[in-house]
Amino acid sequence: MEAELWRIYRPDAAAVWEDEVVRERLSWYYRVMRDEAPAKYHIAARVEAPGDYREANDEELWRIHDELAKAFDEEWARQRERPDVGLASRPLPQASLLDVKVELAYRQLKGCELCERRCRADRTKGRGACLLGAKPRVASFFHHLGEEAPLVPSGTIFFAGCNFRCAYCQNWDISQYPESGVEAGPRELALIQIKLRREGARNVNWVGGEPTPNIPWILDSMRELAKRGVNVPQLWNSNMYLTQRGLSLILHAIDIWLPDFKYGSDEHALRYSVAPRYWEVVTRNFSAICGRGEDIIIRHLVLPGHVDCCTRPVLEWIAKNCPRALVNVMDQYHPDYLVPRLAKYREINRRVSEEEMRRAYRIADELGLAWRQVS
Ligand code: SF4
Ligand SMILES: [Zn+2]
Repeated sequence: MEAELWRIYRPDAAAVWEDEVVRERLSWYYRVMRDEAPAKYHIAARVEAPGDYREANDEELWRIHDELAKAFDEEWARQRERPDVGLASRPLPQASLLDVKVELAYRQLKGCELCERRCRADRTKGRGACLLGAKPRVASFFHHLGEEAPLVPSGTIFFAGCNFRCAYCQNWDISQYPESGVEAGPRELALIQIKLRREGARNVNWVGGEPTPNIPWILDSMRELAKRGVNVPQLWNSNMYLTQRGLSLILHAIDIWLPDFKYGSDEHALRYSVAPRYWEVVTRNFSAICGRGEDIIIRHLVLPGHVDCCTRPVLEWIAKNCPRALVNVMDQYHPDYLVPRLAKYREINRRVSEEEMRRAYRIADELGLAWRQVS
């Protein structure tokens, strides 16, 4: 893409950085984006691990991981205080926290519990509940100009397959068809990222479908970037249905979070996305991220007829537990995939009304959320 064309399509993507709230709340991402700080994977790749880490059994290796994560946090705190992008070109140790993460992530493929479906599928032999086996497939990648202003142009990589079954999915042609796209290993994923960054992407945006089932190759591709000294912020665009360990694998590698927070009611999460224990799982994961002071833009898609049961509790929870988050209150819902086809979804077979959106925005205002900058 012609590097600066986005300035014509999205002038707000430049202007948004004049907003002090955005600058302050996305300060880590902003510095990595401008190559003033090293992406987190550069830090993780330089936290030294024991050379024989591969010989440890799973529980020992998790213990090693959690110990090294503390060293990571100390270095990240230093980097936030006094960023030093020079770290990205320093020599790599023989083994690192990033290597340990990659090893733990690949071990998941023998009995996967990356997400809270916890189906324990042996993905080297068959498929998990996300319909994915032992190889990721990339449906497309490009400079996305439709994302939130601070992210544009966003180097978006769409994976096939998903662990959710959203009845209204707008990407159903890739999320529910894991054979779409082409196989891409860590090297290909690294080359895609390098290309997107060189052509002006502000970040690499992992999405799908859902990126969670693809964590092993995503982390492995970062190893390649660390070796080559390439610096690019990593963005996690996800339904946040990860297990604690799934989240812990990526926690020290993601620079900015772009999660969905869809439902305030487990009943509705089950009905529309077939996602049991939704509230417990996603609030636990949001708490872990927000508690660390990470940079985050939370997306909430307003569903027709769900302002009181979903929008209100979601926004209230964010105001109380993630007060630093920017919030995108989204009006883009339209009936898609199964909704127009199946009578059982007739109550959401319409657009959200203007009155419903006004109410959603009013709730966000009453709660003092920062939403106007990214909605
Ligand atoms: S990512 Fe989730 S659904 Fe997919 S195999 Fe792993 S535990 Fe199962
Ligand atoms: Zn609802």
